[in-house]
Amino acid sequence: MNVAEAAYFDNAATTPLDPRVLEAMMSFACGAFGNPSSLHAYGREAREAVEIARGQVAGLIGASSDEIVFTASGTEADNLALIGAVGAYTAAGCHIITSAIEHPAVLETCRFLQQSGAQIDYLPVDSEGIVDPSSLECALRPNTRLVSVMAANNVVGTLQPIAELGRIARAHGALFHTDAVQAAGKIPLDVSSRPIDLLSLSAHKLHGPKGVGALFVRSGVPLSPIIRGGGQERGLRSATENVPGIVGLGCAVEIAKAELPQETRRVVALRDLIVDTLAETIPNSYLIGSRHCRLPGHVCLGFAGQEGEAIRLLLALDEAGIAVSSGSACSSIHGSEPSHVLRAMGFDPVRARGSLRITLGRFNTEEQVRHLLSVLPEVVAGLRSITAGTTVYPVNRSMV
Ligand code: PLP
Repeated sequence: MNVAEAAYFDNAATTPLDPRVLEAMMSFACGAFGNPSSLHAYGREAREAVEIARGQVAGLIGASSDEIVFTASGTEADNLALIGAVGAYTAAGCHIITSAIEHPAVLETCRFLQQSGAQIDYLPVDSEGIVDPSSLECALRPNTRLVSVMAANNVVGTLQPIAELGRIARAHGALFHTDAVQAAGKIPLDVSSRPIDLLSLSAHKLHGPKGVGALFVRSGVPLSPIIRGGGQERGLRSATENVPGIVGLGCAVEIAKAELPQETRRVVALRDLIVDTLAETIPNSYLIGSRHCRLPGHVCLGFAGQEGEAIRLLLALDEAGIAVSSGSACSSIHGSEPSHVLRAMGFDPVRARGSLRITLGRFNTEEQVRHLLSVLPEVVAGLRSITAGTTVYPVNRSMV
């Protein structure tokens, strides 16, 4: 399949690899295959490539190179941030604050730390999916070690006031971590001017390869490793480096940074075209999450009375060659269970089952968007006529 021509609108799940990134990776997959820890020329060449990529990742977020730790995913970066920050002390008696709408990479790690004796508080969100900073003020305790709130939500796309949350956390002596896996490369993130101690990102969300991520660790922030061994990555992440992946991440962030202003304008125009057109062509459809305080390419829609039909909608669009999501890729393995994000936003369990996520990326064209806009109203109307008068909530467990 030629990804540049396919109607792929699931860029929050993963993005197609940019051919420029693939080209940069290729020479480190075959020719320059050395181990960066080796002292000979092969090793030195690989080490140089890793350090160039480290500088590129640092450049995206205004960090310095020695504050970047490469990991094998965004999930691992989140685990390292949370477990590492707490492990530098002891989990027992340690208080952590996060939000109710975090990705499982954070929520499940909090659950794990809770079993080790940590106390966890979950900040609520409003009906647009945004944390009120005053709720953080109230939740902080003298033993709060870490506050972790995502920069942008993967299900509804809303942005959090991370600068304000970080300022409050810091003022109370707590570390501030943000999961920027969805936000990095899509909105400006500058740790030099923001009170952020730890920040996670992942290459495959910004047209880089899968299986490589990074954690920004502010200089002086104490962190324990979660993977021990040969001491790579300043002892914070032992294992021979994934050199082609790291080179790909570096190239991907370099492109994202260079193209951010024009790409944001282009993608926002396409996003607004989708939102405005569907509001007119699909009766009873509604945008979920904040209208403006959201990721440039993220649309999350609900269809009143058809919330149980999200998976059918997705499959009908799939038949028409259009790929969207009914929530996050990670939640799809749980079938049509209500989304914890929508529940936290105040949706009842039925409405929380149904959302359609349309997420745009670098290779989406206006032509593809217009095709989606012509197909989606017909698909919704077709399902409405089939289910008129009945409420059907299919449980589809075939999605992974
Ligand atoms: N955090 C958020 C907000 C995400 O959306 C994702 C992936 O969907 C992750 C973390 C996990 O990243 P990775 O797939 O690189 O493990």
